[in-house]
Amino acid sequence: MIHSNAERGASLVDLCDLSFDNSFVRELPADSLLRNVPRAVRNACYTRVEPTPVPAPQLLAWADPVGEMLGALPPDSSTGPVAEVLGGNRVLPGMQPYAARYGGHQFGQWAGQLGDGRAITLAEVVSPDGMRHDLQLKGAGRTPYSRTADGRAVLRSSVREYMCSEAMHYLGVPTTRALSLVATGEAVVRDMFYDGNPQAEPGAVVCRVAPSFVRFGNFEILADHEELDALKRLADYVIGTHFPELGAPSPATYARWFEEICWRTATMIAEWMRVGFVHGVMNTDNMSILGLTIDYGPYGWLEGYDPRWTPNTTDAQWRRYCYGNQPQIALWNLARLGVALAPLIEDKTALENGLAVFGETYERASHRMLADKLGLVSLDWEGDDHLLSDLFELLQEVETDMTLFFRLLAALPVESAADTADDSGLVEPLRRAFYTDEAFAPAQRSRLGGWLRRYIARVRQEQGGVPASERIERMNRANPKYVLRNYLAQQAIDALERGDAAYMARLMAVLQHPYDEQPRHDELADRRPEWARHKPGCSALSCSS
Ligand code: AMP
Ligand code: MG
Repeated sequence: MIHSNAERGASLVDLCDLSFDNSFVRELPADSLLRNVPRAVRNACYTRVEPTPVPAPQLLAWADPVGEMLGALPPDSSTGPVAEVLGGNRVLPGMQPYAARYGGHQFGQWAGQLGDGRAITLAEVVSPDGMRHDLQLKGAGRTPYSRTADGRAVLRSSVREYMCSEAMHYLGVPTTRALSLVATGEAVVRDMFYDGNPQAEPGAVVCRVAPSFVRFGNFEILADHEELDALKRLADYVIGTHFPELGAPSPATYARWFEEICWRTATMIAEWMRVGFVHGVMNTDNMSILGLTIDYGPYGWLEGYDPRWTPNTTDAQWRRYCYGNQPQIALWNLARLGVALAPLIEDKTALENGLAVFGETYERASHRMLADKLGLVSLDWEGDDHLLSDLFELLQEVETDMTLFFRLLAALPVESAADTADDSGLVEPLRRAFYTDEAFAPAQRSRLGGWLRRYIARVRQEQGGVPASERIERMNRANPKYVLRNYLAQQAIDALERGDAAYMARLMAVLQHPYDEQPRHDELADRRPEWARHKPGCSALSCSS
């Protein structure tokens, strides 16, 4: 991961030699105070604040593709100037670091001011292709938005953010990216189980990268305080910088912009549902205005298919943010954004239209992705609704791994054996997807076999002249083989805490090609082992990070 000079690309430069811009700072109202103590900030979109240095920044990981996107070379030392910048110990000329002010609805309640309590945006990089990218350090120390917390992040949650944002990108899900992971050499105290046993853990800083980290909550706080001038300036800045195709600001532009946000959010959620990602904390301060997956905290991946599953222990009782609720929560969050933007939009029906766009887009995208997952051209034939609902019922009856089930479905002998195969023969290719032997008990086997027969008949009817290989390829592009299973992330963390970065590097390399077979890495596609079923970090996570 750390490369010698000889391996360096020709047009890339050292991160320290990039040129930086600061349009957010330049164009938006700043907090008039500079005092870096927790406080309520007014009439501002951000506060200028510098990262707090750490004792011994050491680069643990650097994502080459993200570096390339920025025009930056992989550093040749894990403790040199680049580690100092990415650990928060050095601010480069041209950088104007700040913490953004935002609020948010948390678990359905307005929570007031939140803001970047431990994230500090260093600057923007305009990459060789003209795209703008914010460099943001998470875990960089206290800001006026830190409330009672320490501004830091532990290694385990930083590894999870670093790995998952990259894994999501390669799955084709809109997401923020991660450039680097830096160990700080400083202990951070966390009560991981919220049971009164705080422990010292290694600290870390992740450098996140995205065109913008603006959230729904950046608008909500301004609307809540009736700071309408700042609200308009932020909207105009975001549209001008990130949605220039929408044209000059006007009530009609704001309305089209809201529709676009609804469209993007719906598209993102359909992708989460496709790959089995559960965000875990879909508060409005964790919803990106660009429709990117943002803020990787107690997220998780569906293993056994269960729409009520949530990885977040804080949400275990009400399951507000469980897998199956994600579309409706996104819509609720968009409605909160709509309320915040209402002062800019005269025609209130425009907001309702936007929310309707969410519904239509999600419906369409969800059908498309389910059809792709099943290898069907469409899902609008008579009987398709039942085929789907019966499948999702079956997947819940015996614990069935969602990722493996869909991946293995493509291996079903649609052409040959279907007419003669008995139930065991039909179910057999899916064996690895089941967590228990119940699937092979006679009653369940015959229900599954029955569904598979219907499915095979449906595929055959539609297939016509389309070669099977084409269908299988389409399915394999919709059904990843490798996802960042909860226990895999935990194994990477355990290894790294022992000083071994090789496992994480291997996992990251495999997750760069999640749809490819990569047979040498088969075991990274296995269903969750039994030891991981209830192990912390492998099944459920607290918000402590
Ligand atoms: P989250 O639940 O991670 O989305 O965070 C909600 C709010 O808490 C945001 O304003 C964060 O910046 C803030 N926050 C979370 N952890 C910390 C921390 N260790 N120090 C300061 N602020 C934090
Ligand atoms: Mg957050």
